[in-house]
Amino acid sequence: MMVMLNQSQTKWAVEEIMQLFSNARPSLDARTPFQIAVSVLLSAQATDVSVNKVTPTLFQTFPDPAAFATLTPEEVEPYIKSIGLYHNKAKHIVALSQKLVADFNGEIPKTMAELTSLPGIGRKSASVILGDAFGVPAFAVDTHITRIAKRLKIAKEKDSVLQIEKNITRALPQSEWIDGHHAMIYFGREVCSARSPKCVTCPLLKICAFGQQYVQSQN
Ligand code: SF4
Repeated sequence: MMVMLNQSQTKWAVEEIMQLFSNARPSLDARTPFQIAVSVLLSAQATDVSVNKVTPTLFQTFPDPAAFATLTPEEVEPYIKSIGLYHNKAKHIVALSQKLVADFNGEIPKTMAELTSLPGIGRKSASVILGDAFGVPAFAVDTHITRIAKRLKIAKEKDSVLQIEKNITRALPQSEWIDGHHAMIYFGREVCSARSPKCVTCPLLKICAFGQQYVQSQN
């Protein structure tokens, strides 16, 4: 049976990753909390690069919730057609904008409970918005972080994203949650990638059974 990392090993591993990618920043181009929320919504099952291609025109044309709230989803669709699931995303953007105008004075709220009450916003999106729009400590678990956590045995193979979030946030000081999240995403893209991870040069190889097996299998 694989031995799980304890809290201090988890903290060490994430901080190593933070040192490797100390300049990691959000990769969605957005300015206001509302624009961050819309960008996050658009990024589900799409790359940040593809989202950044459509948002400049989208936000120039419709800068805030009031501008979107009067539209139909069909009027939003042409602006986001190159993004996967655009049909549903257009619906969510309009519904989100209408709820913000009706219930939140046109402002993105700053709590997890309120954010997750918004159309199209789940816990992961809410965590990204809290961290990137407001600097409120939150740790969003995406597909990269899930893969890294399971390979490093920060989490078990069958663990939910919520369990992964708990295992990391209880090991890491709150002040490191936002930067840790961004650094792990960069690490997942550039080192611990889904295919051909760079285990040989990875500073975590000494504590990573998955990586050690992977290196052996390549020899
Ligand atoms: Fe990922 Fe390989 Fe590093 Fe383990 S050793 S964390 S699998 S890149």
